[in-house]
Parts: sequence; C-alpha cells; structure tokens
Amino acid sequence: MNLAPESPSAQSEALCRRHRAVQSKIENALPASARTSATLLAVSKTQDASRIRALAACGQRGFGENYVQEALAKQDLLSDLALEWHLIGPLQSNKAKPAAERFDWIQSVDREKLVHALARHRPAERPPLNVLIQVNIDDEDSKSGCAPDAIAGLADAIASEERLRLRGLMAIPAPHPDPLDRSRAFEAMRRLQAELAIRHPGVDTLSMGMSGDFELAIAHGATLVRVGTALFGPRPPAKA
Ligand SMILES: *Cc1c(COP(=O)(O)O)cnc(C)c1O
Repeated sequence: MNLAPESPSAQSEALCRRHRAVQSKIENALPASARTSATLLAVSKTQDASRIRALAACGQRGFGENYVQEALAKQDLLSDLALEWHLIGPLQSNKAKPAAERFDWIQSVDREKLVHALARHRPAERPPLNVLIQVNIDDEDSKSGCAPDAIAGLADAIASEERLRLRGLMAIPAPHPDPLDRSRAFEAMRRLQAELAIRHPGVDTLSMGMSGDFELAIAHGATLVRVGTALFGPRPPAKA
C-alpha cells in the first residue's frame, strides 16, 4: 500500500477523470431534440493557477472567475495557454477597464452604466466582448442581476455598442431544496431567453446550472453550465 501524498501526476489524472465524468453527464442530460451540445465552463475561483493548468491539459478551455484581481494574477501565470476567460462574479464599474481588457466574456452585466463602461474600455484590437445579462430570477435581495422586465432595455443598450456582442442570459437561481422549484426558475429563464431571441436573433447562450444541478439546467435549455466543485473538488477558502 502506498501512503505517500498524491503525486502531481496522480492529481492530474484524478482531475481528468472528473472532467470526463462531468462531460459525459452533460452529454447524457441533453434532450434528444437539442441541436447543439452544452458547453462546460470550469469555475476556478480560489483555485491555483497550477490546477487550472492541469485541467487545461485535460482539454478544458473555458474558465470562470468571480473576482477581477484574482483572475488577472492567474491569467498572467497562464498566458502561454489559449484559454477563454469568463467573469461570472458581480462587477463594479471601477473594475470595468481591466475586465473589458482581459476577459473574453462578462456574464454578470446587470445595469446600463456597466454596458457603456465595458464598451468604452474594450480594446480596439480585440474582438467584441461577449456579454450575458444576469437576471435575478428568484428576486432575491442579496443577489446581483436585473429584474426580468429590465432585460429588453439592457439588451438594446448592449446591441447598440459595437465593442460588445450580446450572447444571451445568465442566472443563479436560489438554492431551492425542492428540485421542482429549481425547474420552475430554469423554465422561467428559458422563456425569457426565447423572448429575447425574438428581438435579438443572434443570442445563443443560456448560462445556468452548477455542480448540484447542471443536468437539470440542461434539461431546461441551458447551453452553458458553470461547474466548480464537481471538477476541482471542495474549494479552498477565498484569500482575504
Ligand atoms: C462558484 C460559482 C459556480 C460554481 O459552483 P459549484 O457549486 O462549485 O459548481 C457557478 N456559478 C457562479 C456564479 C459561482 O459563483
């Protein structure tokens, strides 16, 4: 029996094994009618750059981060890799510049001021910044995200900016213990996305579902799931 601490290669193997397991759950959760697959975004907040590098070696390309400063430090350490970076945490306007410069997607746009700040700071030499509107679908006081009736106005503001590309909606439903309540929130998002697509036919992304419920989210139309714990294991605490 080998009682030595796990070697780096054993850790990488475990990471790739979990990655394959999540990918196959995603495939199996897709409704037969789905024309496209759902994209797996690896949520790497509080994970070291070395763990991101190890997961990238398993074939993972998209990574989601919650805090701009933490993400920039990791991006610097991983600049040799062709990764796609998504900001999934709330964004303050005073961080719009680094966010617009260094991310490929911002999933947490929920107010017009942010729309214009991101557009102003998106560098001319980069492709337009991909943007999702975050919706506070369960009307929680503590959550960022706009009200459903603010989506249309925000969408028009995003669409009017050449340096931004509206891709769809994102939500973090309340952690309802009853899956039926969660399904209701996911279904409400599916309807909002369908309404948005009438006026903005280019939208193709509905970001919802995390480690505990990504299969349910896919059954209700998610095209991008944000998964942390099921890939990396329990998260280290955030550094103060
Ligand atoms: C942390 C986080 C996730 C991932 O959560 P897990 O339960 O670890 O999969 C997904 N989305 C957002 C917005 C998050 O902050």
